[in-house]
Amino acid sequence: MWHCDVCHQQDVSGCDCGCGEVSQPLLNKIVVLDPGHGGTFSGGVHYGFRESDINLAVALKLRKKLTRLGAKVVMTRTRDVSVAPAGSTLEADLQARVDIAKKSAGDIFVSLHVDDVPNINLTGVASYFPEGRSSGLACTIQTFLVNETCAVDNGVSPADFYVLVHNDMPAALIEMGYLSNLAEAICLMDDCYQSLIAEGILNGIVNYFLCQ
Ligand SMILES: [Zn+2]
Repeated sequence: MWHCDVCHQQDVSGCDCGCGEVSQPLLNKIVVLDPGHGGTFSGGVHYGFRESDINLAVALKLRKKLTRLGAKVVMTRTRDVSVAPAGSTLEADLQARVDIAKKSAGDIFVSLHVDDVPNINLTGVASYFPEGRSSGLACTIQTFLVNETCAVDNGVSPADFYVLVHNDMPAALIEMGYLSNLAEAICLMDDCYQSLIAEGILNGIVNYFLCQ
């Protein structure tokens, strides 16, 4: 955990003591953020809420926090658009995200999603890592995300999601909650809760690099 050299406050987000100290534990790190879906690929839609909007809102908040700590952030999208040209297939859209990541020579790739399932009682967060590769990034993010949000911990699992297995860099895909559960959907649409999610993922990323 980073601490301010002046007041010794421990806070990975930087120091609030007024000493002017700014921690940059992510200096020179390149973080690729992938807000899932977008444009014609809306992802889950439930109770009138769209997964693609939540993914993007959290990603924009997380970009701000990462940048403050010195990271260079590469986004696969910053607006409600598909990443591949309009009319492309879903696979082409996913490959376009991988292409951006590879071109950026990122240190890590983090894809943000929200679950949408028939069982409306399910809640909580889950993190995924590429099958057959390290779970380190997903595990660290999951731990800090659960700690920050107090959401149900649905654990860390290997998966063959396209953006995970086609990326060479350490990668994690985060399911930040369930759009299909009304109470959690309302939380996921809430600005403060989105900030909590972003803070949790930020803490996970900082601690991942600290342990390298
Ligand atoms: Zn999704």
